[in-house]
Amino acid sequence: MKFSTKAIHAGQKPDPATGATVVPIYQTATYTQEEVGRHKGYEYSRTGNPTRTALEECLASLEDGRYACAFSSGLAAADAALSWLRPYDHVVANADLYGGTYRLFETVYKTRQVDFCTVDGVDPSDFQKAIRPTTKLIWVESPTNPLLQVIDLASVAEICAKNEIAFAVDNTFATPYFQNPLNLGADLVIHSTTKYIGGHSDVVGGAVVTRRDDLADAIKFHQNAVGAIPGPFDAWLILRGVKTLAVRMVQHEENARRVALFLSGHPRVKSVAYPGLGSHPQHKLAAAQMTGFGGMVTFRIDGGPSEANDFLKRLKIFSLAESLGGVESLARYPPLMTHGSIPKAEREHRGICEGTIRLSVGIEDAEDLIEDLAQAFDPDR
Ligand SMILES: *Cc1c(COP(=O)(O)O)cnc(C)c1O
Repeated sequence: MKFSTKAIHAGQKPDPATGATVVPIYQTATYTQEEVGRHKGYEYSRTGNPTRTALEECLASLEDGRYACAFSSGLAAADAALSWLRPYDHVVANADLYGGTYRLFETVYKTRQVDFCTVDGVDPSDFQKAIRPTTKLIWVESPTNPLLQVIDLASVAEICAKNEIAFAVDNTFATPYFQNPLNLGADLVIHSTTKYIGGHSDVVGGAVVTRRDDLADAIKFHQNAVGAIPGPFDAWLILRGVKTLAVRMVQHEENARRVALFLSGHPRVKSVAYPGLGSHPQHKLAAAQMTGFGGMVTFRIDGGPSEANDFLKRLKIFSLAESLGGVESLARYPPLMTHGSIPKAEREHRGICEGTIRLSVGIEDAEDLIEDLAQAFDPDR
């Protein structure tokens, strides 16, 4: 089956009890057994729930994986993906990382003696150089947040295989519609389903997908033992969202491309990062490892925080908000919103300069979005 068909049918057979065409919200904590130990596969909803199972089977199918575990947030999914690490194990990640993931490594895992370092990673040999005898995992986001750098997943996978290191990819930005890291050699794929997979900014969730039995066992164990599961209604909302992922991503990409082209030609824009532009330094790599370039666009306005703030305040359709990947367009200012806790020099060293604005381009009419940006640059036109 092809992607759009799997999104609507994988894991979603008519309900065996009633024939309901849409997977019901099994809002139950427990399941009645016929006799001790004899039941229909479900005992308690932390361990398993049919609505969650449908979501997990669908996500496993969309990533070409064998197993998926759904979680109550993307960070709970990341935590589960790291849960098999032991004291003195070492992890290498790319530096332009989602802030919450960085905090998870830097605070939670470091206090458990799991060592962590970051490398730029656009040159894959950065990862090779950072490997120590204790390195157990390489963790990559591509495209990165917020700079939209593209990392060569197949090359990093090769480095991992050669060194017997596990390879995890946070695929939230690309989505399984545009990129399947397991097919490029990754062992684990992590999603914040809050973003494009849910797609409507109305639910927080996460997932981990893998083909490896050993990792699936560890992650399922952690899911049940720690219990950061999505409730049946949240699982159902995410499953409802994922059905339209393919059509949404086509429109996100088309709109993002038009917004990126508009910004590229604007006199008040210093630079634009969008992997779909020929001017993007890793455009060819993006075209090779992804089937599309996604809906995120980052640019630098000519000026600093006050020019950026004036621009953001004047936006009428784009909301000034955290998050991304919903049908509505969002804008944010990474230097002060998510990366504000990082000292300015370190921020700029990482390439998050004054004036950097990140757009999550929604699926409204592209002309309206461009008009909104144009008036925010220049209200007195
Ligand atoms: C949002 C996000 C996360 C964290 O997900 P939550 O659902 O907010 O916990 C992780 N990685 C990336 C790339 C994200 O955008």
